[in-house]
Amino acid sequence: MDLKKVMIEKLGRIDPRFFAALMRVARKVPLIEKKLDAEYQHLLSGMEDSVKPYRKDFESHAQLPLAGLPRDEVLSQMQQMSEREEDRWKDGHVSGAVYNGDAEHIDFLNRVYSLTSQCNPLHSDLWPSNSKYEAEIVSMTANMLGAGETGPGAEVCGTVTSGGTESILLAMKTYRDRARKLRGIRRPNMVLPVSAHAAFDKAAQYFGIKQIKLPLGPDFRADAGRLRRAIDRNTIVVVGSSPSFPHGAIDPIAEMSSLAQSRGVGFHTDACLGGFVLPWARKLGYRVPDFDFRLPGVTSMSADTHKYGFAAKGTSVVLYRDPELRRFQYFTASDWPGGMYFSPTFAGSRPGALSAACWAALLSMGEQGYLEATGKIMQTACAVRAGIEKIPGLRVLGDPLWVIAFASDEFDIYRVMDFMSRRGWILNGLHKPPAVHLCVTLRQAQPGVAERFCEDLEAAVEQVRSQPAEKGGLAPIYGLAASIPFRTEVSELLGRYLDMLYKV
Ligand SMILES: *Cc1c(COP(=O)(O)O)cnc(C)c1O
Repeated sequence: MDLKKVMIEKLGRIDPRFFAALMRVARKVPLIEKKLDAEYQHLLSGMEDSVKPYRKDFESHAQLPLAGLPRDEVLSQMQQMSEREEDRWKDGHVSGAVYNGDAEHIDFLNRVYSLTSQCNPLHSDLWPSNSKYEAEIVSMTANMLGAGETGPGAEVCGTVTSGGTESILLAMKTYRDRARKLRGIRRPNMVLPVSAHAAFDKAAQYFGIKQIKLPLGPDFRADAGRLRRAIDRNTIVVVGSSPSFPHGAIDPIAEMSSLAQSRGVGFHTDACLGGFVLPWARKLGYRVPDFDFRLPGVTSMSADTHKYGFAAKGTSVVLYRDPELRRFQYFTASDWPGGMYFSPTFAGSRPGALSAACWAALLSMGEQGYLEATGKIMQTACAVRAGIEKIPGLRVLGDPLWVIAFASDEFDIYRVMDFMSRRGWILNGLHKPPAVHLCVTLRQAQPGVAERFCEDLEAAVEQVRSQPAEKGGLAPIYGLAASIPFRTEVSELLGRYLDMLYKV
């Protein structure tokens, strides 16, 4: 008996709340527990080979080698693995992930890294070059995002972080600490659309902030009409995305931030994905609503240099409307026996080389470089979107610019994703509603890629329509995840997947 199938087909029709309660009890029954355990193992064992493909061809090292291996040998092994992996993203088959990927650009970043691999911004006295780089990264990003047009009273500032998630975690901690100090709020909440990035859920969990989620409108933007009633005395921040990761939709930031401001609450624009695209798309004439510090209610932003800023992985920028707010982000310890200690972000020691490479990326691109890159990405995305819209049975969600999500009312979209993956395409599976997206990067802007995508997608849809559902692939797991009663099971499955990644 296939438990998974029974779960989805038979039990899935029962009222989800009743079923969730039933499952809570059932999980405690040893027999069911054992059956579930077997099911998890079955689902994961099918994945283990693809997660650990090098066990066959390379030696595994569970312990330190007695004598160090020759450097050449270490390098040669890494070179081989890197080459196998490069093929997957280089020719543009992967959604998001590698945003620039041009060989000369990568070489340049690598040369910068090799110059600066010993730098640690924690020792600002030893590497003043690093504080120059970081101050300028923040300033260049701020000015790109309206810092010069805020009107009086604002002085946009920020810090470099390790990525979008850290930028978001830090901003949420900052609002929590400010609300605690200035407003005495002990049970803080954030108001955010359901489409906001999972990093906000992480922040909520880590820092004890309750979440009040706004539904999306039919256009996949946050329903701003619900915001007024969602904000209460304990609200410390309202969040909007520009654009959202799942659907590439730009929330009504002007309306939302103005309402937050009128209630004396902070507003964070998550421009992790769009920060280095939207300013240039607007200059190129694409319709981009206001989303940055030009709006008086926007008090903080996140923008990822390691996405469309084309830096190496490991940097992002968090910005605040004024230095008073940024102060709540900092950590200082004045009575530690180890000396005067202060650090702006979560980490202590930090990879200065990544800030250096980020600075070098911004300088070498310049406004012109970003304009050109954005132009190519937008044109490619237009072609991709038009191609999807031409395929009967597929429907593009909302009115996206370059992150294009699509769904179907006629067939299982996750099976389309599986067929696409057999043709080498790695797309993102979404839920609620079930959908798939392609986040267009410079990789897809290479000649012929958009056309190949549309052809393969048409063929995949054809296969889904003509062939019965097959075993394997990700479709069953997404199907399982989409049914609410199994949330606990799905979390357990994801936890086990992480355990698997750490197996030698
Ligand atoms: C990528 C992304 C994040 C998180 O960034 P990481 O760099 O993966 O930590 C947050 N918000 C949006 C909209 C994103 O696209």
